[in-house]
Amino acid sequence: MKLMRKSRRLVSIKQGKKHLVQQSREESKQSNGRQLSIHDFDFLSTLGTGTFGRVRLVRFKHDSKCDPMALKMLKKTEIIRLKQVDHVRSEKKILETIRHPFIVQLQDTFQTESHVFMLLDYACGGELFSLLRREGRFSNDVGLFFATEIVLAFEYLHSKEIAYRDLKPENLLVDKDGHVRITDFGFAKVVKDKTYTLCGTPEYLAPEIIQSKGHSKYVDWWALGVLIFEMLAGYPPFYDDNPLGIYQKILDGYYEFPPYVEPKAINLIKSFLTADKSIRLGCNRGSEEVKEHKWFKGVDWNVVYSREIPSPWVPKIMDNADTQYFEKYPDSVETPSVPTKA
Ligand code: AMP
Repeated sequence: MKLMRKSRRLVSIKQGKKHLVQQSREESKQSNGRQLSIHDFDFLSTLGTGTFGRVRLVRFKHDSKCDPMALKMLKKTEIIRLKQVDHVRSEKKILETIRHPFIVQLQDTFQTESHVFMLLDYACGGELFSLLRREGRFSNDVGLFFATEIVLAFEYLHSKEIAYRDLKPENLLVDKDGHVRITDFGFAKVVKDKTYTLCGTPEYLAPEIIQSKGHSKYVDWWALGVLIFEMLAGYPPFYDDNPLGIYQKILDGYYEFPPYVEPKAINLIKSFLTADKSIRLGCNRGSEEVKEHKWFKGVDWNVVYSREIPSPWVPKIMDNADTQYFEKYPDSVETPSVPTKA
């Protein structure tokens, strides 16, 4: 089974192009009365690449005491070419309104003629995906630790009617204390009723997304079932070399547990991987019924929220600009253009 990283994302197929350049210029944010620009930063290494650009580690030129940060640089021509204007606008808008201990924190946004920039806190432990591939699989306790933090993040997002829609280990970063930080809100959306955009990552799609029946925030509980399976088994429950094969397995509801997954975890995963939303765990009483499941018995959710449970894995960093947990990328030859004036 090839579990490659970037092969797993499905770009959504929503139509509709807007004039991003003009709209985002109007919305440009001011920081301390002054708009940030790329000239405020020293650019360090590349942390990752996304669909429309890359994420660089940056340091404020005039404040050496300030921690380095992650600067997500999105190329406008790519956003428009891939018809993702609405998604990028929604990502920025949602990130601007949220603050949670297990979600990556947006600090500012700005833009140039060619790029949209999002300045984020740097999560130095890398992707949970890399940790999981290094370890092979997680023990029940390690899987439980990460799952509890994600349950609280989803509880928060769903309380704001935000469906996250792209859960997978690649989008879970680990911060300096070893806690989860959900990143990449490109597919997140405020959904009060149903939405019809096909988006996500094949292995993590709920059946109602594949069937284009309209879906809601409940797809996140399905995806959490897939994630917990992948953490404890070391591979995802529905897997095939081609996406159509994956979709067929999801619709058939066919998957098997390896013998080392504990019965309570099996029960939880099965309750999430239930096609019928009227009985899927999380779809009636939301996070409350999830937190009451026997796999989570004994978890003190207030202590989880306060980040006081020590992480089973804390990154060992040399200094606050250490990038050892990230893949090495060749330096970009591209220089973002000069920023527009406020
Ligand atoms: P994204 O386009 O948001 O999916 O980001 C692409 C990749 O960049 C992620 O998979 C991470 O490896 C890296 N990355 C994004 N945001 C951060 C961050 N705040 N801290 C560290 N790495 C990040």
